[in-house]
Amino acid sequence: ELDVSEYRKSLAIRVSGFDVPKPIKAFADCGFSSVLMNAIAKQSYEKPTPIQCQALPIALSGRDIIGIAKTGSGKTAAFILPMIVHIMDQPELKKDEGPIGVICAPTRELAHQIYLEAKKFAKQNGLRVSAIYGGMSKHDQLKELKAGCDVVVATPGRLIDMLKLKGLTMMRATYLVLDEADRMFDLGFEPQIRSIVGQIRPDRQTLLFSATMPRKVERLAREILTDPIRVTVGEVG
Ligand code: ADP
Ligand code: MG
Repeated sequence: ELDVSEYRKSLAIRVSGFDVPKPIKAFADCGFSSVLMNAIAKQSYEKPTPIQCQALPIALSGRDIIGIAKTGSGKTAAFILPMIVHIMDQPELKKDEGPIGVICAPTRELAHQIYLEAKKFAKQNGLRVSAIYGGMSKHDQLKELKAGCDVVVATPGRLIDMLKLKGLTMMRATYLVLDEADRMFDLGFEPQIRSIVGQIRPDRQTLLFSATMPRKVERLAREILTDPIRVTVGEVG
């Protein structure tokens, strides 16, 4: 019999919030489809990392989450895998109504990494992922978006540009991820983040990940998340 608090302690996981789901021990505990399990096996991810052990069951339960863990701890899969489940659970996929999953990251490079990771798990499920960041022509991006997508991975500035140009709608968006929230703040993206959040329906699921949690980020999280569960792994500054 698993002692939940001992198990969390062994992984250096701390949680706060009400009705926190139990951490998992293996990907097989997540109830993933065989398609998703195969995609995970293909990455040679043998077992979930500590942040994944606790964040996966929370995100899969539909709850909002604040996830704090250092760089390299596997945060990307912790929000991508539940996003795929969330999208596959939607009753009908109309391809022309904008993305269901919206992921914001501070830089092109980070957005591109997330884009690649998302594609690994989205492809076999027939989901389309679009990347929206600087360095690509806006014209080409608009064209790609017009073809339809289920997930966008974006830097805040370019996403706002595309919204202004009516290149996409947030009508369908119900799963919002703010990744590396501390860095987005450092880069001055708070107004853009607020604008994007304001354009997504309030009954969305919101996930905020960060390596550190400065007060300003904490304040924003409290404003835009609903009854979040906070998960911290290890010692973070
Ligand atoms: P973070 O966002 O916390 O900095 P990443 O999501 O970028 O971390 O993951 C860091 C590295 O660990 C990546 O190369 C990723 O493919 C790998 N990784 C993620 N989850 C697992 C896992 N469960 N087992 C092994 N490697 C993993
Ligand atoms: Mg990351």
